[in-house]
Amino acid sequence: TDTQDWARSDRYHNSFLIPEDPVLDAALKNSATNGLPEIAVSTAQGKYLYLQARSIQAKRILEVGTLGGYSTIWLGRSLPADGEIITLEINSKHAKVAEENLSNAGLSSRCKVVVGPGHESMTKLPSENKFDLIFIDADKPSNLKYFIEAKRLIKKGGVIIVDNVVRFGRVADPEQTDANIEGVRSLLNALKGDQDVDATTIATVGEKGYDGFIYAIRN
Ligand code: SAM
Repeated sequence: TDTQDWARSDRYHNSFLIPEDPVLDAALKNSATNGLPEIAVSTAQGKYLYLQARSIQAKRILEVGTLGGYSTIWLGRSLPADGEIITLEINSKHAKVAEENLSNAGLSSRCKVVVGPGHESMTKLPSENKFDLIFIDADKPSNLKYFIEAKRLIKKGGVIIVDNVVRFGRVADPEQTDANIEGVRSLLNALKGDQDVDATTIATVGEKGYDGFIYAIRN
């Protein structure tokens, strides 16, 4: 089955489970109009992030890799009125578009976009004000660096999710050596035997083809 069929599969399931959403559509349209790459999470994955955040009643969320704020909107919608999501983005144009999209979604008061290299921004966040959920979805070679900081910043029992860890199964193919794939492998190597977290990879398929998330809980 090729990616087109999997896109049909996503559309089919979404038609039962995820209503039409003009605000999210507008965010994607505004991102495309501004020339942002079309690499946001899929609709079904966005809703999955939202559901995860709801299931742990997250009040504080950190995201690394904002792009146009599509996943930020999903996560932001899970928050109570006094909740907060901080999202880190290196590209000021992406951040500007995200701010427009978050404003259009009515989420500006709960969402803070921080422009700069994600790792540097993370190191500036205080350990005292910990997060319930951290979503890592920026440059993949830095996955391990982000994860190490995420362990410092996440509450006990909090959830760390890392996107794009399966990459069409290429992460498991020893012939593949690109930096994104090596970034996932470094993280997996560090997670092996790591007593600080309990984790699994959930492989996914849909309009974006074959990929997956690491889902980890801080012990
Ligand atoms: N989470 C977004 C979504 O699903 O809607 C998609 C994020 S996109 C896959 C990755 C983003 O990370 C891009 O906007 C890119 O500019 C940003 N990025 C790349 N390197 C970064 C870095 N060192 N620090 C922070 N953000 C970075």
